[in-house]
Amino acid sequence: MARYTGAVCRLCRREGQKLFLKSERCYTPKCAISRKAYVPGQHGQGRKKTSEYGLQLRAKQKTKRYYGVLERQFRNYYELAEKVKEGKAGENLLAILESRFDNIAYRLGWAGSRAEARQLVRHGHFVVNGKRVDIPSYLLKAGDVISICEKSRSSEKIKAILEKNASRPVPKWLECDNNTIESKVISKASREDIDLEVEETLIIELYSK
Ligand code: SF4
Repeated sequence: MARYTGAVCRLCRREGQKLFLKSERCYTPKCAISRKAYVPGQHGQGRKKTSEYGLQLRAKQKTKRYYGVLERQFRNYYELAEKVKEGKAGENLLAILESRFDNIAYRLGWAGSRAEARQLVRHGHFVVNGKRVDIPSYLLKAGDVISICEKSRSSEKIKAILEKNASRPVPKWLECDNNTIESKVISKASREDIDLEVEETLIIELYSK
């Protein structure tokens, strides 16, 4: 499966904000955004792109990178969002991205980053409605119940990950029972539940050209 393999902190610096692509490091002074708050590259400290297209492109790139999705799949999500009859396309696009299995595992604190969540999903550590699902892009819907599979609950690695991320707040559209390590999707994520600073309408404008 294709994935970005370059330096991830560079992506945050390019977008000028924390995208939380690593785990603990993102919350420490070692974060590259705190140390080098300028665009990477030779002309990074002087380069400014303010055209309408430039703003739209940056909004799209930032969102793609935040969720760890590549171009083809991201465009598919846009097409899916356009077909939703209710609500605004931009908000629907973000709600679809939030409903990805890897994102939900991350939001629940079952992984330190979305990249780690993707790996754990692929390795079959989680189950959806009692069945093992190892597809990070699997889209969950309201009513779906996810949990950590029995065997993985005793894994030292999983225990350490859960302990490390236990203090991360769980969004209100997810219900999590830490005793049973089980969670339920209550509803789709609304815009105010999503902490990504982006003007999602710019992405829709870019793709609708
Ligand atoms: Fe981004 Fe995290 Fe790197 Fe900071 S440490 S630049 S938030 S990936």
